[in-house]
Amino acid sequence: ETSAKVIDGKSVAKQIRDEITAEITQMKDAIGIVPGLAVILVGDRKDSATYVRNKKKACESVGINSYEVHLAEDSTEQEVLKYISGFNDDPSVHGILVQLPLPSHMNEQNILNAVSIEKDVDGFHPLNIGRLAMRGREPLFVPCTPKGCIELLHRYGVDIKGKRAVVIGRSNIVGMPVALLLQREDATISIVHSRTKNPEEVTRQADIIISAVGQPNMVRGSWIKPGAVIIDVGINPVEDAKSPRGYRLVGDVCYKEACKIASAVTPVPGGVGPMTIAMLLSNTLTSAKRRHNFQ
Ligand code: NDP
Repeated sequence: ETSAKVIDGKSVAKQIRDEITAEITQMKDAIGIVPGLAVILVGDRKDSATYVRNKKKACESVGINSYEVHLAEDSTEQEVLKYISGFNDDPSVHGILVQLPLPSHMNEQNILNAVSIEKDVDGFHPLNIGRLAMRGREPLFVPCTPKGCIELLHRYGVDIKGKRAVVIGRSNIVGMPVALLLQREDATISIVHSRTKNPEEVTRQADIIISAVGQPNMVRGSWIKPGAVIIDVGINPVEDAKSPRGYRLVGDVCYKEACKIASAVTPVPGGVGPMTIAMLLSNTLTSAKRRHNFQ
């Protein structure tokens, strides 16, 4: 019985944060600039508040200044746009992040379009996504979760070029951009979504599977080609009476089964999750370096 290598996102993310801390110290010493990230949170979603708190803490841990705006659920789109415009003009802010989802009375497209592409550290501006999709064009920023998935493959020495990669999910924030990134790395990609017939027949062809669905344990061992590499983006709460919170988090992939057949697999939690935040910090540093022409 084989046992897959565990792709330890938590420790890779820590390593990346250490690299970022060192670069930020260097930049501060050399030119007196400290990168700044502005985070806009609208409404009272508990999960969003937790994500924002974690991003703020992560900024502090590497020496990035963070500026948080928390607006009420019933705020207007104009108010959000006013803050974005202020941050666009503020030279101490190098990255602007609007925590999604926004309340349903707001137009997400208008708001994401308003973020200056030079400060679009989430990489969600249509110009950045468009450049990601085009040959010979370079986006200023790549979305954090997809970038984190590819970074894990790189740091674990997984060959992407010429390999068959299957992405499960096609959302704007994970599935679609991660498929574009894999294609840029010369993988041959297939995308599986909710209308795909016999998805397991597609995934069984894959040397690399990246799953971003939101369905606990959907990808079974029988969906996986022996020796494949599995990146599990899903974060799904399932009831667990033994946990003090009454639930625990699992991925889209049945981890126990994947461990028996894959060559490497990310755990949930401790896989892609910590990488997402590390890539946000990295994008913010990149933005400050570009703005100030530092190395
Ligand atoms: P979305 O709900 O926006 O997209 C889900 C995608 O999965 C859709 O494209 C949908 O298809 C597809 N899908 C749904 N059900 C099935 C099915 N039964 N078979 C095949 N495909 C299916 O989710 P997100 O992309 O935002 O997030 C996906 C997961 O990743 C979630 O668990 C989320 O919590 C997690 N996540 C984790 C992050 C991290 O940092 N680790 C960051 C962001 C998300 P269709 O397009 O046809 O509807």
